[in-house]
Amino acid sequence: MTDRQPIHVIGGGLAGSEAAWQITAAGVPVVIHEMRPERMTDAHKTDAFAELVCSNSFRSDDWETSAIGLLHEEMRRAGSLILAAADRHKLPAGGALAVDRDAFAAEVTQRLRAHPLVTVERGEVAGLPPADWDSVIVATGPLTSPGLSAAVQALTGEGELAFFDAIAPVVHRESIDMSVAWAQSRYDKAGPAGTGADYLNCPMTKQEYEAFIAALLEGEKTSFKEWEASTPYFDGCLPIEVMAERGAETLRFGPMKPVGLSDPHKGGARAYAVVQLRQDNALGSLWNMVGFQTKLKHAEQVRIFRMIPGLKEAEFARLGGLHRNTFLNSPKLLDQTLRLRAEPRLRFAGQITGVEGYVESAAIGLLAGRLAAAERSGHACVPPPATTALGALLGHITGGHILVDGEQDGEGAPRARSFQPMNINYGLLPPALLPDKDGGGKRIKGKDKTRAKRHAVSLRALADLEAWLGVRSAPQAAAE
Ligand SMILES: Cc1cc2nc3c(=O)[nH]c(=O)nc-3n(C[C@H](O)[C@H](O)[C@H](O)COP(=O)(O)OP(=O)(O)OC[C@H]3O[C@@H](n4cnc5c(N)ncnc54)[C@H](O)[C@@H]3O)c2cc1C
Repeated sequence: MTDRQPIHVIGGGLAGSEAAWQITAAGVPVVIHEMRPERMTDAHKTDAFAELVCSNSFRSDDWETSAIGLLHEEMRRAGSLILAAADRHKLPAGGALAVDRDAFAAEVTQRLRAHPLVTVERGEVAGLPPADWDSVIVATGPLTSPGLSAAVQALTGEGELAFFDAIAPVVHRESIDMSVAWAQSRYDKAGPAGTGADYLNCPMTKQEYEAFIAALLEGEKTSFKEWEASTPYFDGCLPIEVMAERGAETLRFGPMKPVGLSDPHKGGARAYAVVQLRQDNALGSLWNMVGFQTKLKHAEQVRIFRMIPGLKEAEFARLGGLHRNTFLNSPKLLDQTLRLRAEPRLRFAGQITGVEGYVESAAIGLLAGRLAAAERSGHACVPPPATTALGALLGHITGGHILVDGEQDGEGAPRARSFQPMNINYGLLPPALLPDKDGGGKRIKGKDKTRAKRHAVSLRALADLEAWLGVRSAPQAAAE
């Protein structure tokens, strides 16, 4: 045993369970505070740790050409409890890692409960943690209880904790056809951080616009769950299909207005309507469709948004949606080691930091646990390199995202904050250098080129991860 003070982890979900496990791996005691079964959320059904509230899939397990598969592999190499339990209870699912949800959650629960460094306290933490908890990881997820949400909101400011995500689709820059689209800000305004050519514009003729509106109206939509419908929706962003229902011209006077833009491919003419995309990450590889939050089904989004000129071959890093969620404006509020700048004894992990998905939530738990344990042990907190999937996710939530707070759009109207939850994808990782030709001297093209690029990024990520784990494991070894 150890006489070191424990780290407190609030929430025994995907992120909290992984964080606690990583803390014990560094020889540091941990107390897990989980409110279930005393108080349930609207989605959980059991008292088990790491309960999967919906699907039983951790998505693709191919580390060579899938970003989520790469994240799996990095987490395995970093000693993840969530991945170990998933591997042990996997079910046949083609190239995906799907699990027996009950056996999976039972294993996570049992391994944590049986660990000599783990104490479990059942009950809600309904406000800010007591002052004598000097190191805390808040991993309370998208359905954080109202008492704790209110306390965090009081600490961060009202606009910095959202209760809904209103997600517009995000497109890989390289899939946008620039022989149709062009770069220009409305009225060429440069704004505080711009150049006057900060948006990518996709023009529509009257005929294309009318066909697009008809498709939006007919497209299949998802509906709100009963408990989502009663949640206050702060950002006030209407889904585009709801705007379209209000009248054929509503979008043309809203997010698709063509004013202040001249199409260089048509001698500077004004289009009938324009879809704008705005840079979404510091790398410039991802662009979001401005004002295009939607509740259309995912397959429908792909079909309908590829009707937009310039986006016919669009590859989507994220599709749109509106969901009940609780998440921080992390790029502004958290430091590089996931600590709340305003109160550094509090770290955040999981979906509440603005990642999306079971595996991504657990991944941020893994990082928060390691970073908190390093700090408790007096070691340097070294975040993973940005070239790894773990580092890229951390970068998205703490630094890689473009902040637009206080900024205004081309016509001087204030803009809502743009940080939204994101799954891991290759657009978050810097590109790797790739030879133009294969071993036989043949030019690499099309799908082969995409695969080769992804493979090169994955190989680099694993090599860089190993180096980072080496750096990290030396102090941990010394602590044991
Ligand atoms: C309805 C719904 C469906 C989803 N479906 C999927 C899906 O199919 N696939 C996918 O990849 N992702 C899905 N997600 C998104 C996300 O991946 C999951 O929510 C994931 O569980 C998030 O992990 P987490 O650890 O951040 O939070 P959670 O796993 O939710 O864990 C948070 C824990 O904190 C506890 N807690 C909350 N407040 C307190 C408090 N004040 N004190 C003590 N304990 C507290 C909760 O009981 C819970 O156990 C879904 C989300 C929702 C809301």
